[in-house]
Amino acid sequence: MASKISVLGSTGSIGTQTLDVARMHNLEVTALTANSNIRLLELQAREFHPKMVAVLDLGAAAQLKVALSDTNTEVFCGEEGIRMAATEKSCDTVVNSIVGVAGLLPTLEAIKEGKNIALANKETLVAGGSIVMKAVKEHGVKLYPVDSEHSAIFQCLQGCPENSLKKIILTASGGSFFGKKRDELRNVSVKEALSHPNWSMGAKITVDSSTMMNKGLEVIEASWLFDCSDEDIDVVIHRESIIHSMILLKDNAVIAQLGVPDMRIPIQYALTYPERLPSPAAEPDFRDIAGMTFYKPDYDTFTCLTVCRETLRRGGLYPTVANAANEVAVDMFLKEKIKFLDIGDIVADAVSSFSENKTDISLEDILQTDRETRIRIKNKY
Ligand code: NAD
Ligand code: MG
Repeated sequence: MASKISVLGSTGSIGTQTLDVARMHNLEVTALTANSNIRLLELQAREFHPKMVAVLDLGAAAQLKVALSDTNTEVFCGEEGIRMAATEKSCDTVVNSIVGVAGLLPTLEAIKEGKNIALANKETLVAGGSIVMKAVKEHGVKLYPVDSEHSAIFQCLQGCPENSLKKIILTASGGSFFGKKRDELRNVSVKEALSHPNWSMGAKITVDSSTMMNKGLEVIEASWLFDCSDEDIDVVIHRESIIHSMILLKDNAVIAQLGVPDMRIPIQYALTYPERLPSPAAEPDFRDIAGMTFYKPDYDTFTCLTVCRETLRRGGLYPTVANAANEVAVDMFLKEKIKFLDIGDIVADAVSSFSENKTDISLEDILQTDRETRIRIKNKY
């Protein structure tokens, strides 16, 4: 069980919920980081007394340094500051709740320093799964999933003999636009894309849920965490988000993990594994649940899911390309520079125009592919 944690991206949706868990279980918080939200970071630092905080934005970091000058918390800045938080000496577990591929290097640095990882930042595994999993093995650390579906699978697998897994069944809420066809999606607004039926999350992942890119990223994430291929992972739409995912075993028995949609359960399990402790999440009351529904995903409308599956089959740097293209496209959509359907088209276009694939990938290959993909799209729009 974790006792001293560094929380990267502590001001975000997962970060703040991680601190709810830390508060409840008196975990020591050794470092906190944020992109630029120093107001909240200051409040967090005053409550949890970390040894250090880091802010990506240099100007914001300078302001926070002044604000925290009456405390013992040191303030650092930039990517180097975040690296320092990821490798803070006394911490045993790093919670990575940064959004986007920006989480990749801090994850690798933390692993190299022997830290266990509670990973919410799925883009790390999508873009750099091969090197991250290799580093986990080499340094003998544990990587616990925080993403609710992957935590569910991890929970379902407890007590199952090795080699008993036949299939993973990832559940998907279907996001804001379930049931809609391309024609109906042409003019949807940012506000509509940001209204998720069941979960309250950061903007990027909420848009990813509405395009179903999120499920595509999660199929790739699952392939790395549970060592399986595209054919071994089914996706099923389950609108109510009560079943967080399931496993099908070789004897065709199915084990599912259920509960209210509250990320503090998977966050806590990643921090307290294998213990089951009281959590801040509510108890489900099945008498209040009218029913559970299941549907096939619409791969023709939600092309991001289709493309992600294709990149998983192709392997190598293809998932890195899809992820980078999506990050740029979602950012442009949130800034209202492109339309909703452009996101899927940009991701598909980036993947189909990529060809220099490799099998033995280095970190530099990943970073360069990520950079080049972003530049190519930015030059076009
Ligand atoms: P968020 O936008 O709410 O928070 C992101 C955090 O990262 C913030 O603290 C922000 O300051 C920081 N950050 C942003 N850009 C950064 C950068 N370039 N460098 C360093 N720090 C940066 O996002 P979130 O919803 O909490 O999601 C975080 C990660 O967890 C994502 O990878 C997401 O896919 C994953 N995840 C989130 C949920 C959820 O319920 N929110 C569920 C499953 C997985
Ligand atoms: Mg998820």
